[in-house]
Amino acid sequence: MRLLLLSFTAILLTATSCRTTEEFTGYDYDPEGVTETTDREITEQNKRTIGFLSDGVWITNEFSASRVSDVTRVDEHHYKIRIDPEISPVNNSPWYGFRIWSDEEVSVTVELEYTDGRHRYIPKFSHDDGATWTEADSTQYSRDSETNNGFIYLDLNEEKLWVSAQEVYTTREYRAWAEKMALKPFIQQSVVGYSHQGRPVPKMKMAQRSDKPVKGVILIYGRQHPPEVPGFIFSLHFLERLAGDDELAETFRRYFDVWAFPMMNPDGADNGHWRTNAAGIDLNRDWVHFNQPETRAVRDAIMPIKKRSDRRVYYGIDFHSTGTNIFYPILREIDTFPLHFTYDWYDRIVEGVPQIDLNIQAFDIVSPIAKNWTHRTFGVDAVTFEVWDNQPRSELENYAKKSAEIFMEMMIEAYAEEKTRQSETALRTD
Ligand SMILES: [Zn+2]
Repeated sequence: MRLLLLSFTAILLTATSCRTTEEFTGYDYDPEGVTETTDREITEQNKRTIGFLSDGVWITNEFSASRVSDVTRVDEHHYKIRIDPEISPVNNSPWYGFRIWSDEEVSVTVELEYTDGRHRYIPKFSHDDGATWTEADSTQYSRDSETNNGFIYLDLNEEKLWVSAQEVYTTREYRAWAEKMALKPFIQQSVVGYSHQGRPVPKMKMAQRSDKPVKGVILIYGRQHPPEVPGFIFSLHFLERLAGDDELAETFRRYFDVWAFPMMNPDGADNGHWRTNAAGIDLNRDWVHFNQPETRAVRDAIMPIKKRSDRRVYYGIDFHSTGTNIFYPILREIDTFPLHFTYDWYDRIVEGVPQIDLNIQAFDIVSPIAKNWTHRTFGVDAVTFEVWDNQPRSELENYAKKSAEIFMEMMIEAYAEEKTRQSETALRTD
């Protein structure tokens, strides 16, 4: 009898432990201790310009979003750049960024060697100080499968060539974009808090005048992870579409406000971090403890919605990038409002943008991430929206804008359905 009781208790314990966030200690690709989010010491990168006089070749990291830890000369016109993460161990998102030039025209090989990482990002080049970017083709770049180092083959001259893991979007580029957006009368910019290094954590709010007594609110998060630039670019195009001047967007904005936090990790973006903020913390593992100023600022900006009778949160989107285009929805069996919105949105994107190979993988709600916090706090559905690292950039804007159009149509439907449901409930209780 005693044995039986014991095993019964054990079953109960297992069943409840799935529901507590304390049990979640990280995904299989996370470093150990990722959910302990109190400040750590990061390694600052030394900013300097290194010249190899005999070759007449120069390499610098003295600018924003750079990452070079050391440079050594392997041979004539062959250099090895060591790239260290800001903290170790860390997820394999090995960001690099440098400018390189030569006194005379030469061809060089640059080898990228990562501490605690493997080469992942196809090099991007800019010849015009970051205004435009191109991607390396197969003659300009290779990857050694044994050493996991990247090799970049470059023709240099006196012009400074910018080489980066992804296109560079720092807080400066975000500000320029946001200021242009804020010219629209229904868009307001504000600062909800400051990072460890004193950079603003921005909010962009779309709030068009409306006669609706209760408007829905869409929450949008982004750039918690600095190298995930395709997801960031996607999010900006997505927001541009929600702010459109056409009938669909105007109708959408009569029913919904948008509260967006597209640049949540400004220190990480400006310092060329692989993953974390300036305290070495993965911000998207801090949505239970809220130990970090960036996550705290966003949470504190959102919480007042809970007390408002004229606003109701409908949905949350957290933009990221990974090795494929993929949706991470909440498990189907978990009750959300609007029910299964993410699954329906996924189906309609697959149908409406067939050139995008979009995948889907559902997760439980135990991890301390933005999506799960949004669900726990408001009972709503939410998605982690992952854009492929190598998504051809020529299709990125179209993909974002089509997804936004489908999103707006579906949200307008969800709003109407909810209104019908409410008036039916009211009739029944009369
Ligand atoms: Zn991410």
